[in-house]
Amino acid sequence: MSINKNNKKDSILKNRAIKVIPGGMYGHQNSSNLPDGYPQFMESGKGCKIWDVDGNEYIDLMCSYGPIILGHCHHKVEEAAVRQQNLGDCQNGPSKHMVELAEKLENIVKHCNWVIFAKNGTDSTTICLMIARAASKNDKVLVAKGAYHGSNTWCTPIKTGTTLEERKNIVEFIFNDLDSVDEAIHKSNNQIAAILVSPFRHDSGFDQELVDPIFAKGLRERCDAIGAALILDDVRCGFRLNYGSSWEPLGVLPDLSAWSKAIANGYPIAVVTGKEYLRKHASEIYVTGSFWFSAVAMAAACATLEALYQENSISKMEKAGRLLRDGLSQQAENYGIKIKQTGPVQMPYLSFENDSDYHKINLFCTEAIKRGAFLHPKHNWFVSSSHTESDINDVLRITEYSFQRIYENFR
Ligand code: PMP
Repeated sequence: MSINKNNKKDSILKNRAIKVIPGGMYGHQNSSNLPDGYPQFMESGKGCKIWDVDGNEYIDLMCSYGPIILGHCHHKVEEAAVRQQNLGDCQNGPSKHMVELAEKLENIVKHCNWVIFAKNGTDSTTICLMIARAASKNDKVLVAKGAYHGSNTWCTPIKTGTTLEERKNIVEFIFNDLDSVDEAIHKSNNQIAAILVSPFRHDSGFDQELVDPIFAKGLRERCDAIGAALILDDVRCGFRLNYGSSWEPLGVLPDLSAWSKAIANGYPIAVVTGKEYLRKHASEIYVTGSFWFSAVAMAAACATLEALYQENSISKMEKAGRLLRDGLSQQAENYGIKIKQTGPVQMPYLSFENDSDYHKINLFCTEAIKRGAFLHPKHNWFVSSSHTESDINDVLRITEYSFQRIYENFR
């Protein structure tokens, strides 16, 4: 197993970036928030392999933080995108793919009677709130404490540059705790437009928490009782957990859903899906963007949805995720190291006992990145359907070293 050492081009780019990009980099992909050894700049990707600008190769378990679901450069998605790129992308109107994609989603997603397209997850969560407010004529929105719903001024986790005004209609509850939801409803004086919630608790830096079906059903009942919309933020989980809305297996359908990341296997698109009774209100709000109607991402999304179905991708991700989880458990046990693995297997999260300062997980990931496994110490990982048994075994060969180092350093 070779050790990735060369980072010359990455260092040069980082030094140039610091002069022309505030802080050198911003947002969730900022490598300066990661332990040493992570590259900032990437060159290419194919299947589950990625290469940084210095040519170091990694097995990718972050999948671009979610968008890559079939593997990088999936041939059917690329064919569809290139075909459309050669015809035109950003034009005076959308292509036929807009209607085809909306029809596909209407067929696949149970609660979906109509679709609005945008570009980013934040667009779609924000549009959901606007539609819920237009319908209910209420302002308040209930959200789970600590949940991430995007980087708009009403929801960005770092409040610098935002006003109190922009948050005054957000009321918090605790995920999986219906009493706290009732308290939040009580506090909001019957002025609730929506309850916004993610399919499971996937806050970064914390062990993940699957949804209690009683909680999901309880939210549905409460929304019905108070005339508020139930909005599912499926931006991160959409099409990784279920071929349809993520709470369909629980029998809970939202009124509105926000989607983005995996819909087009890396091409930029966001989606809002909604129930019939909200169609009128969805047409009353004004939302748009210069690039929202671009044809390439819509063609790529049609091809992605087809490939996900044809290739039985969700069970492939589950199988690979299960293999990884079992392998990590076995390794930890062999070293007598206490770990927790939380979240669905296809969106794994690993933490160590007595590691509130993240020293152990940082060392674990540093050793992994050196040897060619791209993991993240504080964010859930993502498995794609291109990860084969042999790829996961390669990752496990690498994590064996990571566990060894934890064993040596924290005895
Ligand atoms: N909601 C959730 C659950 C997300 O994970 C994200 C992105 N990480 C967003 C919303 C915002 O999406 P975007 O970054 O595309 O605006």
